[in-house]
Amino acid sequence: MSDTQKPVLKGQRALVTGASSGIGAAIAKALAAAGAKVVVNYAGGADRAHAMVEKIRAAGGEAMAIRADVSREDEVEAMFAEMIEAWGSVDILVNNAGLQKDAPLVEMSLADWQRVIDINLTGQFLCSRAAVREFLRRGVVPELSHVAGKIICISSVHDVIPWAGHVNYATSKGGVSMMMKTMAQELAPQRIRVNAISPGAIKTPINTAAWMTPEAEAELLKLIPARRVGEPDDIARATVWLASDDSDYVTGATLYVDGGMTLYPGFDQGG
Ligand code: NAP
Repeated sequence: MSDTQKPVLKGQRALVTGASSGIGAAIAKALAAAGAKVVVNYAGGADRAHAMVEKIRAAGGEAMAIRADVSREDEVEAMFAEMIEAWGSVDILVNNAGLQKDAPLVEMSLADWQRVIDINLTGQFLCSRAAVREFLRRGVVPELSHVAGKIICISSVHDVIPWAGHVNYATSKGGVSMMMKTMAQELAPQRIRVNAISPGAIKTPINTAAWMTPEAEAELLKLIPARRVGEPDDIARATVWLASDDSDYVTGATLYVDGGMTLYPGFDQGG
């Protein structure tokens, strides 16, 4: 049994946004393997979300799928109400839903700028606010966790690495970073922990073009000192740790799970 499969989250209730695909799906599976009941949130991918729920159940876990566009206040509120009605509360929120709509600055439409900010940044705000209201209402339940609630924001190495052709995406992730730290500062006295994970390049449908062909993968590996593209499970293992009491004294931190991508690989021969 690996560390992610120890029931360190036994009895806790987790909501993972965008859990119908890629990183979110791996996180949902790992949280369930660690003993949490998991809401698999999705937007368009109903079939994939229900298949994920079945996979978790087949492995002995508990899960349900709830559709909600995280950029819509009414849908987010309804999703949390449904979860709390079914399971009594929420202990862990993983803000993972996100997308890219890439274009050079001068060609980027206002609609594509706005959509990415709405989902990647405002979506994390709306879900965090709903979760925190419930954490504060319920308070600490010592049998479950040392704290009243945990939020893990999935950001990106592009919260610190500028990214030409992706100004909406990089800006949304930079915003996530400051939102996470501000929430952590505001909520620590109320026993709520807020942290972020910033993935490097992870093999998921969001970035197939970057690793699909051997040529593209070789180019990508030049940016990764560890010389491998990451897997969704690399992020899932870090998420379980940040959701558990094993990281009890960690709040306001960003964990870069990136094989060293943020270590200025262009300087690896001395610059
Ligand atoms: P992915 O496979 O494309 O999955 C994206 C997920 O987000 C899907 O489940 C999708 O749901 C959901 N989603 C999109 N819009 C939504 C909305 N309005 N409301 C609710 N859910 C929505 O991408 P991924 O690579 O796993 O990305 C997950 C997160 O990791 C994103 O925040 C991304 O920025 C971040 N990240 C990824 C990488 C990487 O290399 N892959 C690197 C750094 C950061 P439906 O399919 O149901 O619509």
